[in-house]
Amino acid sequence: MTSLIHATAAELADLLSTGVVSSEEVTRAHLDQIADVDGEVHAYLYVDSDRALDTARQVDRKRQQGEQLGRLAGVPVGLKDAFTYMGAPTTCGSKILEGWYPPYNATVTQKLIDADMIILGKTNMDEFAMGSSTENSAYGPTCNPWDLHRIPGGSGGGSAAALASFQAPLTIGSDTGGSIRQPAAVTGTVGVKPTYGAASRYGLVAMASSLDQPGPCARNVMDAALLHEVICGHDPKDSTSINAEVPNVVAAAATKDVRGLKIGIVKELGGEGYEPEVLARFREAIDLLANAGAEIHEVSCPHFPAALGAYYLIMPSEVSSNLARFDAMRYGLRVGDDGSTSTEQVMRTTRGAGFGAEVKRRIILGTYALSSGYYDAYYGSAQKVRTLIIRDFTQAFETVDVLMSPTSPTTAFTIGERANDPIAMYKADLCTIPTNLAGNAAMSIPAGLGDNSMPVGVQIMAPPQGDDRLYRVGGALEALLQDKWGGPLLGTLAKEAR
Ligand code: GLN
Repeated sequence: MTSLIHATAAELADLLSTGVVSSEEVTRAHLDQIADVDGEVHAYLYVDSDRALDTARQVDRKRQQGEQLGRLAGVPVGLKDAFTYMGAPTTCGSKILEGWYPPYNATVTQKLIDADMIILGKTNMDEFAMGSSTENSAYGPTCNPWDLHRIPGGSGGGSAAALASFQAPLTIGSDTGGSIRQPAAVTGTVGVKPTYGAASRYGLVAMASSLDQPGPCARNVMDAALLHEVICGHDPKDSTSINAEVPNVVAAAATKDVRGLKIGIVKELGGEGYEPEVLARFREAIDLLANAGAEIHEVSCPHFPAALGAYYLIMPSEVSSNLARFDAMRYGLRVGDDGSTSTEQVMRTTRGAGFGAEVKRRIILGTYALSSGYYDAYYGSAQKVRTLIIRDFTQAFETVDVLMSPTSPTTAFTIGERANDPIAMYKADLCTIPTNLAGNAAMSIPAGLGDNSMPVGVQIMAPPQGDDRLYRVGGALEALLQDKWGGPLLGTLAKEAR
């Protein structure tokens, strides 16, 4: 038997449902792994050991009593620290929320609980999900388990690194501009940004509300599908939640057939600025799909090169508004209140002390873009570009079923390399941002290694509510690649039993 930490979530689910192992054993194995390796990796901000074990025992009891349980019942999961979970601190990677215990559960959290999954703890992230390396966490960076000197991507670097170091079989992320997919790409894992509105944002600390989307992170496509099924679905508590049936992603992941499927390669997402080996792994993936019977077309999305610029106006504008709630009055940090200072002064001092540099940069940028004299020139123009990008996607999906590109232009860079160069950092999301602006669905899956032996990811994009197409193509491509490699990409690492 594969060791419990190296098993897939689907395998664990089978072992649990047939009574071969208990959830307590599975949970303990993961908690032991966290104790062994997280000192180095720093994927978790908070480990909820006692409650995880208690819940596991309760689930085992329910199973013994013959209760009908969900497929992932008893399977552990890590939760990005952007989601509220009663009884555990939610910091969103920021000092301003240090020690805050939320009085309610996010809908995603509640769905994990209702599915009898075991929440192991809260995973590290860039402060308020702003970043591509997890270096912006106020609690220190997460390291990439493939090479501890490199970044695990961001903002959800903790969720991705937990998977890649076998500290959880499944984790939850949130994706505003690529924070699920880019960490997946650079850690050799799978990450999915569902269609905007597919998973509820209720209880997800807001970064940019028109872009934020929770999604599943896993080590393979089927596991991601199983988690997708658990967390998605209509929620009246989120006014942008989709009120329609969730596409059958689990069936799609099992299809493993791309014959006749039309795949478009986005001309604008490649070329200059991309590492040659990233482009080479992408080409190889496309060739495998073509040999398996998919039709490959080159597609132009002429406005994609403007996506990064539009995103860095729209996102900070929403950030400046959303983060106004951290005012030292309602909850979180309060600094400088000695009884004689004015309310405004306390707010100023608290926000000055509680927010990191990147968060401040974006609040200032957004406030400027929204100011009356510049609104039309910046925010207004960016919204027009957003419409053009939506049109590019709509037109492309008239001729092809899915679009593909690399997930990120480069493999994992070293910690510190881009820390003082925000523009270089922003470029990590060149390929992922168009999808957030348009609100459609996208997935990253491992495509092999670069010359530096670091993972490369490829991205699959589908139209809104076409999430099942991601899983169909992703599942098929994963099987083709694993045939070639003789097993999962992370299998090699597993042998070293990190
Ligand atoms: N890296 C992007 C940013 O810094 C994406 C963040 C995200 O998806 N949360 O904005």
